[in-house]
Amino acid sequence: MIKTIIDKLYKYNCLEKEEIIYLLKNLDEKSREYLINKAYSTRLKSYGKTVFLRGLIEVTNFCTKTCLYCGIRAENTNADRYRLTKEEIISSCENGYNLGYKTFVLQGGEDPFFTDEFLVELITEIKYKFPECAVTLSLGEKSYESYKKLYDAGADRYLLRHETANPKLYSSLHPKMSFENRITCLKNLKKIGYQVGAGFLIGLPNQTIEDLAMDLLFLKNLKPHMVGIGPFIPQKDTPLRNEKGGDSYTTITLLSIIRLLLPDVLLPATTALGTIDSTGREKAFKAGANVIMPNLSPFECRAKYSLYDGKVFTDNESAEEKRKIEEKIKNAGFEPVMVRGDNITWKRI
Ligand code: SF4
Repeated sequence: MIKTIIDKLYKYNCLEKEEIIYLLKNLDEKSREYLINKAYSTRLKSYGKTVFLRGLIEVTNFCTKTCLYCGIRAENTNADRYRLTKEEIISSCENGYNLGYKTFVLQGGEDPFFTDEFLVELITEIKYKFPECAVTLSLGEKSYESYKKLYDAGADRYLLRHETANPKLYSSLHPKMSFENRITCLKNLKKIGYQVGAGFLIGLPNQTIEDLAMDLLFLKNLKPHMVGIGPFIPQKDTPLRNEKGGDSYTTITLLSIIRLLLPDVLLPATTALGTIDSTGREKAFKAGANVIMPNLSPFECRAKYSLYDGKVFTDNESAEEKRKIEEKIKNAGFEPVMVRGDNITWKRI
């Protein structure tokens, strides 16, 4: 039965909800290995052995939102807040460009200081200075008009995890936020023409296998160009500080299912996975992940962007140690590449 489900997933890139649930509940070591091998051959067909390197710049840790799991939530008075100036962001891009990076991912909390005008100016300058580079934004929920202005200024991609496709679980974790608005944002981003990234957290309190199946089907339905998933890791200054958190085993299983559901997707091996499992990202590449995002933020800010505890950022996560990261990718049998690395189905409209 399990093999039949995996073969169907490999051949048709789709499954019914009941089949996903059955798969997640009944995978044993042997069938999991079979699943991962199928995901591996699928990634070979779409992107070969390539692993794209993106430079991540954490532009602000101010945020107006209070997501229960997040270390930079507005109510965390222990967070040491910072925001980068335009000059500091450009200089981080310059540093990355000199190291060979061709994508800059500007990530931050929902910080009203970063107005549309500020961001348009910033994106325009990055595109002027580094015309062959892609700009990815991950700055939370905005109006259609704001997203459009940033796209017209030259932004290419937008990451906005849906976090969980269960509306009840979503509202229990995101006070004063609306699941409907989150989904509207994702649809607007697609309509505008961005390469869009969705994704979810694994191991959230009260999250069930059925919820994970809903997440997978949500992704299949949305057809994002990128998917970022990672284990939930408790942060000491949040209401979820004493919860258990997600595990590497489930994360890697889910990565392989996502690769099979969306063969062309850009799929990062996330820092969160590398944090809970020192060889997690290498395992993720074998399960279909094909992106890694080393940190280009000014060194003194990295510890302050503390979404969860124990985040790896000091030695092997810095862009300056890019060679070590490349070595790790090569040792795992993959090929680190520093090109824009767009989703193969995407064209700017
Ligand atoms: S998860 Fe994002 S929106 Fe929520 S508090 Fe953290 S930075 Fe803000």
